Amino acid sequence: MDSHANQEQIDLVCARVREMGFKPHVIAGEDRVAIGITGNKGALDKEPFLSMSGVIDAVRVTKPYKLVSREVKPDDTIIKIKNSNGVEIKIGGDELHLMAGPCSVESETQINEIAHLLKASGVKIMRGGAFKPRTSPYAFQGLKQKGLELLKEAAEKTGLLVVTEVKDTESLPAVAEHSDILQIGARNMQNFSLLEAVAHYNKPVLLKRGLAATMEEFLMAAEYIVSNGNPNVIFCERGIRTYETYTRNTLDLSCVPVIQHLSHLPIIVDPSHGVGMWEYVAPMAKAAVACGAHGLMIEVHPNPAEALSDGPQSLKPKKFISLLRDLKPIAEAVGKRLNVNVLNETKSLELCA
Ligand code: PEP
Ligand code: MN
Repeated sequence: MDSHANQEQIDLVCARVREMGFKPHVIAGEDRVAIGITGNKGALDKEPFLSMSGVIDAVRVTKPYKLVSREVKPDDTIIKIKNSNGVEIKIGGDELHLMAGPCSVESETQINEIAHLLKASGVKIMRGGAFKPRTSPYAFQGLKQKGLELLKEAAEKTGLLVVTEVKDTESLPAVAEHSDILQIGARNMQNFSLLEAVAHYNKPVLLKRGLAATMEEFLMAAEYIVSNGNPNVIFCERGIRTYETYTRNTLDLSCVPVIQHLSHLPIIVDPSHGVGMWEYVAPMAKAAVACGAHGLMIEVHPNPAEALSDGPQSLKPKKFISLLRDLKPIAEAVGKRLNVNVLNETKSLELCA
């Protein structure tokens, strides 16, 4: 639609699409609205649309993923997220955002220490798993409901936003009530009923790349969420399975420019799961920012040696703070901003004893 198109003109186009037996999807951009059409079998005639007022162009989307493609919306999508404390952030623009915290919420002390560390360092989004999808049924499965409550309490005290994993449709209502961003884990990237279910919540979704998913499958998974009514999807590259065994996964940073070329949605990188060892997290985090990621997800634990999950890949607070310091000039070099406070060592040790 033209950047001056009004609501009535948008509604008329949608009504026309419905009359034809198809489904319109209004995709709001920074300065103009795009209307995606799905449900048609072959190519549609552009003429009836081009002659409607407010329409500036009609484009045939050639890709199998329609609504998430750049063909349907050339400008970047910026996702606004606001929590109950009124803290608002935007993901997808020039400001980089970090989502940091432990793999699992383990105790009130642990999550509060991390929340205070993040707050003092200016990081706005806290991560922490409450419902954990573990390879072994004997491994720690998360504190579940209690974990969600601890996360929310820590976030409310500090004004942070929360991202946490939705493991299944059963736990989804509770997870949605206690978080600001719904995380779909790598193991669930193609759990299509879960993708449809999260689409019915008015919360942004952090979609992690499947363990062996191609970029097209990754895009198609996002299409499930968007086509079912939730336009706010953030991709997360977290490494894929290859023949390599010296790292936990192979962090495929080429996914960042490729997804940015093919889709208007933001993409962040999780180097922690990507490499699986804390020693390699910082270099890959820097590389992720350098190649244009819109943010990072990093596992941080007050005492990684005692972590109940993913200790070997978790950064100690001190290392996390020094990573923030190193990321700032890299962000600036690629035209982005990282609004964090670089704490001194003493301060970070004080916060996480
Ligand atoms: C996690 O974020 O702790 C997690 C389980 O990640 P992934 O789904 O990428 O393995
Ligand atoms: Mn983890």
